[in-house]
Amino acid sequence: MTARGTTTRGMASASHAQTRSEAASQVDVATPGKKRVVVLGSGWGAISFVKSLEANGPYDVTLVSPRNYFLYTPLLPGAATGAVEDRSIVEPIRRPIAAKGMRYFEASAVSVDAAKRTVRCRGSDHTFRGAYTKEQSDKAPWKTFDLEYDYLVTAVGAVPNTFGVPGVEENCMFFKEISDAARFRREVNERFECATLPGVPRERIKELLTFVVIGAGPTGVELAAELYDMVYQDVAKTFPSRLLQDVNIQIIDLQEKILSAYDRRIAEYATDFFKRANITCLLGAIVKEVKEGCVVIQDKETGEVKDVPFGLAVWCTGIKLNPLCEKIIETLPEGSQENKRSLLCDKSLRVKGSQGSIFAIGDCATIERPRSLAKAEDLYREAARCTPDGDCEIDLGQEGVKKALMAGKEEFPHLEEISNRVDDVFKQFTDGGSRMTFPQFRNMLEDVDKGLRALPATAQVAKQEGQYLAAFFNECAGDEAKLKADDARFDYVHKGSLAYIGKDAAVADIPGFTIVKGIAAGLIWKSFETISQVSPRNVLLVAADMVRTKIFGRDISRIN
Ligand code: FAD
Ligand code: MG
Repeated sequence: MTARGTTTRGMASASHAQTRSEAASQVDVATPGKKRVVVLGSGWGAISFVKSLEANGPYDVTLVSPRNYFLYTPLLPGAATGAVEDRSIVEPIRRPIAAKGMRYFEASAVSVDAAKRTVRCRGSDHTFRGAYTKEQSDKAPWKTFDLEYDYLVTAVGAVPNTFGVPGVEENCMFFKEISDAARFRREVNERFECATLPGVPRERIKELLTFVVIGAGPTGVELAAELYDMVYQDVAKTFPSRLLQDVNIQIIDLQEKILSAYDRRIAEYATDFFKRANITCLLGAIVKEVKEGCVVIQDKETGEVKDVPFGLAVWCTGIKLNPLCEKIIETLPEGSQENKRSLLCDKSLRVKGSQGSIFAIGDCATIERPRSLAKAEDLYREAARCTPDGDCEIDLGQEGVKKALMAGKEEFPHLEEISNRVDDVFKQFTDGGSRMTFPQFRNMLEDVDKGLRALPATAQVAKQEGQYLAAFFNECAGDEAKLKADDARFDYVHKGSLAYIGKDAAVADIPGFTIVKGIAAGLIWKSFETISQVSPRNVLLVAADMVRTKIFGRDISRIN
């Protein structure tokens, strides 16, 4: 096997490989003298890593993903209704790969051996037959292969979480991939066409045209909003008008407001906006079960259980660990990964327990946040200027507390934010007094540590992590000691939250600036989602789709 600019060495012959356990071929396609980097995934984290890494640098990069394209997830709800076309929001992964002199294999990583530094991959299933039967193709010796790495960058994302609610897998669709958007578009269309047939009873029409979205986070809200636009802008013009009175878009969530993780003003505005648009908001509702054609919900307050019949239900809530990460955790030393929801990393995104050879970015990674409480005494001592053997009975004034917090900010970045509002916390923890004792200081640190939350599972975080890691790799130029050194740190900068809520309106929370709601925010959202595409080609395609939709409406033909 040869790849651009590389030589082949040590590849086991096919027949030999088959006699080894699990018939995996050992593939070493790397360029001698370069550090071998294997990147897993082609989503937000992986593409931003690859794009920011220097071309033809000191690393030999191989990217492995079952999906040979990047998907711009924020516009998936638009693609599900035809506001944008699906090909406009995907970018072939081979484009950046080729531009950077890297290598790509369409395969899934199935396991990792952290000690041997190998990753086992399995080629994707293909639909072509040719001279082979499917069985022959599945058993082909090249189907499973092992890649050696010096550094593994895991960016495999997460998978949908049903939280063990019975019937979700069987009776709901998930909403994460481009195939989900295509299926949604097709199935919604099918239901409208079916409801139009002569003689369909009114009751059946109502069932067919009830669309239920479970989860009122940004994804669920945007999907409901795009569906609403499609129904009232395009279906309304082209299907018999009698159908409209039977359309029912419903959104279900455990919280009392939609977009509950956003600023309260946004959540209230969006909930009100949906209610006025006649989108049924079933809030404060626990989903107990999903049966064929019906969601069973229970009111959180009253305990009342009710059935919500549907024609189509979409599960838009919750993610969990990608199964590959479980395999990675298994291969790491016991006790290095206490968090079983994602790969626990240090501040430079190195997976704990991997001795600096595995990095993780995006939805599959959680950065360990050091707890400042453990250093409370040191920080307090320093600010109180205690003698090395003297006790620290001296209370601190407000200035002293600020000083102690600032002394810890290098190691515990969250202390800096607290020091900016030291007035308030000082009052809170001294009960309005003028001095703070050591026990009060400890209570304060314990409280601020508790407020430490993992970074959200968003494209924004994955992108920044990918860029940071590439910059770190560029800077270290393949030097192992530098790559393992302890002085680098990823800092996340939250640039704001945006969500589309329908009828050309959106909500935007721009930190340190303001909250924007309505049509103005809608314009910000549209422009932002257009210019943020990963290539100029996609910017052009998305912009053209948006203009086309505005002038001619969505294409509601069912072609696949
Ligand atoms: P992903 O982008 O999910 O990529 C994972 C990649 O790994 C994929 O290419 C997958 O094929 C590959 N993979 C999986 N398993 C394996 C394996 N075993 N071996 C090799 N490769 C594997 N975030 C925002 O910030 N703003 C938004 O507006 C927004 N909107 C969203 C809308 C929708 C509908 C969805 C679903 C998500 C949205 N998000 C948004 C969240 C955002 O998409 C994710 O946080 C982001 O994709 C995470 O990036 P990632 O690289 O970790 O994973
Ligand atoms: Mg969005």
